[in-house]
Amino acid sequence: MSAPVLIVGGGLAAATAAATLRESAYDGDVVVYAAEPHLPYERPGLSKGYLMGEKDADSLLVHPPSWYAEHDVEVRTSTRVESIDPGAHTVTADGASQPYAKLLLATGATPRHLRAADESGAPVAYLRTREDSDRIRSALAPGRRIAVLGGGFLGLEVAAAARAAGAEVTVLESLDQPLLRVLGPEVGAVFADLHREHGVDLRLGVQVTGFDGDGRRARLTVDGSPAVDADLLVVGIGATPDVSLAAAAGLPVDDGIVVDSRMRTSHPDVFAAGDVARAHHPVLGRSIRVEHWDNAIRQGRVAGHVMAGVDDEARDLPYFFTDQYDLGMEYAGSVGPDGYDEVVLHGDVPGRVFRAYWVAGGTVVAAMHVNDWDASESVRAAVGRRVAELV
Ligand SMILES: Cc1cc2nc3c(=O)[nH]c(=O)nc-3n(C[C@H](O)[C@H](O)[C@H](O)COP(=O)(O)OP(=O)(O)OC[C@H]3O[C@@H](n4cnc5c(N)ncnc54)[C@H](O)[C@@H]3O)c2cc1C
Repeated sequence: MSAPVLIVGGGLAAATAAATLRESAYDGDVVVYAAEPHLPYERPGLSKGYLMGEKDADSLLVHPPSWYAEHDVEVRTSTRVESIDPGAHTVTADGASQPYAKLLLATGATPRHLRAADESGAPVAYLRTREDSDRIRSALAPGRRIAVLGGGFLGLEVAAAARAAGAEVTVLESLDQPLLRVLGPEVGAVFADLHREHGVDLRLGVQVTGFDGDGRRARLTVDGSPAVDADLLVVGIGATPDVSLAAAAGLPVDDGIVVDSRMRTSHPDVFAAGDVARAHHPVLGRSIRVEHWDNAIRQGRVAGHVMAGVDDEARDLPYFFTDQYDLGMEYAGSVGPDGYDEVVLHGDVPGRVFRAYWVAGGTVVAAMHVNDWDASESVRAAVGRRVAELV
């Protein structure tokens, strides 16, 4: 009997890779190790519909529970892989060694923690898992005070959900606009206006200098701004890729497990995909690590294909979406380390129905639409074109 394909991780990349193996007629054993006590699920709802109580846990599942038996894929939930040995082709979990033919690391990312907050006695929440979302949801009620540290997508989505529940929300961001690093000041300002119009106390360019609390309440000291009292502090300051298995095994790691565009690590039978992978992007001509839903699907699919012996390559441009209040947006492309020269805006920016194109050297490097769903395809197609060709 030949050794199985082992997949480490119970998220979207893992479940997509398992499905792709079966779609590719791979008929060997497939085993998924998932550290969480759940079947593989998707995370975007954790800060949106699920957090707002509009969607249930089943709606988050990548595949329905019956799918795994139907496709002969074994999922070992609540089972964390402790180590891998690429030379011996084994992993260790629950104290036992398990051989594999091919191994996919799809271990995702973990929220970056703020030690000063964690040790302050303040009630602090991070958001990555279903349980995290449940905990935050239980704190959302009219009149409750929620402080959010970090004006990135996650922080802003939590702020929107909290406002929808009638909570009082303060968002603290050290940069001069929310989403500044991803969208730049021009489009970041659109999100600042959006949240202020919905009653968020959005404080930009501020530093939190002190955390205090008694287990039930948090008090944040803010440089140059009044202190913030809250019933819950949600910290959304980014995530770090969960590279520990690869690093301990001596596989190349550089803010992510280093893989080529076919999701192969330096070891021919070990692959990585999703938030944990730093992949060479053949179109962008550089390596990138992408923490987005679409990337987990695309890279999971490529890993599944290549492990099944079907050639494939991850060539699609990064893509992501967000929903906040009545604003929905989709973004495609990537502004490289050299930044952009200008943002070209088409449409009704104050009315929040528009398209934005980030341009470097006369070429569109990233594009998005806000509430302009007919432009969904055209903004993606604009990336890589000359700015003069935009209509
Ligand atoms: C709250 C939230 C909202 C988001 N919203 C959006 C959005 O609106 N749009 C968008 O494009 N993207 C969004 N994302 C990002 C998107 O969800 C991620 O890119 C995606 O989940 C990555 O999937 P993954 O399979 O790579 O990793 P994950 O989903 O993180 O799954 C990794 C899994 O591996 C498990 N694991 C780790 N180590 C081990 C081990 N040693 N053994 C066994 N299991 C292990 C972890 O417990 C975890 O369950 C959001 C993310 C979060 C957290």
